[in-house]
Amino acid sequence: MSDGKKEKPKASAEPRRSWFDQLRNGLARTSNALSDNLASALTKRKLDEDTLDRLEEVLIKADLGVAMAGRIRATIARGRYDRGLDEGTVREVLATEIASVLEPVAEAFPLSGARPHVFLVVGVNGTGKTTTTAKMAHQFKRQGLRVMLAAADTFRAAAIDQLKVWGGRVGVEVVAKEVGSDPAGVAYEAFERARAEAADVLLIDTAGRLQNKSELMAELAKIVRVLKKLDATAPHGVILVLDATTGQNALNQVEIFKEIAGVTGIVVTKLDGTARGGILVAIAERFKLPINAIGIGEGLDDLKPFDAQDFARAIAGAKSENEAAA
Ligand code: GDP
Ligand code: MG
Repeated sequence: MSDGKKEKPKASAEPRRSWFDQLRNGLARTSNALSDNLASALTKRKLDEDTLDRLEEVLIKADLGVAMAGRIRATIARGRYDRGLDEGTVREVLATEIASVLEPVAEAFPLSGARPHVFLVVGVNGTGKTTTTAKMAHQFKRQGLRVMLAAADTFRAAAIDQLKVWGGRVGVEVVAKEVGSDPAGVAYEAFERARAEAADVLLIDTAGRLQNKSELMAELAKIVRVLKKLDATAPHGVILVLDATTGQNALNQVEIFKEIAGVTGIVVTKLDGTARGGILVAIAERFKLPINAIGIGEGLDDLKPFDAQDFARAIAGAKSENEAAA
């Protein structure tokens, strides 16, 4: 039984190696492109301005962001590579720089003392909100917490059914109303119900029709407003779900949802696919919002703690800490 205290969960139950490999596979698109381009940028093996320019360009192309690319360039320019610069060295510098940006934002979902602790899960359609909501429910339940779900994406019947199916799999109650009903009404009822049943955590799944931004903004604002009627400190967490395969557009999504809903933390999904991992670094650097977890598959157990070191090494194509030590 967990007392819900803040602590960084570790993925220690699984074999270290396979977990790193899985992440590395997902980030293959990023790290392979980086490899090929690094190799061609470093053909001269001599560290001149031209080589540095090309290196910087490679890093920007990998979605790492202009600021970080410039910093890595400067770090490498400062280094003494008398006998030329090899790829392995660049990878190590890369891994270290990336980790230093990611380390401060890697943070498990914080749970306040509030009961229930209310999470609002937001994001663009298809990013993985509903799946992530279910995975979070599963994770909290396994920590011994009482969890409840609310189906506040009332736009499509299928969306409500999808959450109900997940609720059944996880074994938690889902508060839902008929399609087309007011999402804020669902949220309010669910909050009352969660209180009455002494739930520890309430997770509210929402709609994400960004094509109508003002409507979505009004909808989310109303949900927040009614939650505050019951508890002025609610929602206690607003989790933005981002799809790692979308690249640069994810930056815009953070901007928009920060404005609409006041994001407190981020979950990046689909890091098992053809992810563009560099974008996560750019997001961390620009917004400094906590990255609470990452999604690496469609199953309930595929929500993992965000480990800055592992992630940085996977992107840079560097060896895992274990391999490096061996
Ligand atoms: P929503 O519209 O934001 O609620 O997105 P859904 O939760 O319905 O997910 C959209 C699709 O993405 C579904 O097919 C999910 O199975 C899939 N999905 C969600 N998270 C992940 C992930 O981490 N990895 C992979 N491969 N697929 C995911
Ligand atoms: Mg959904």
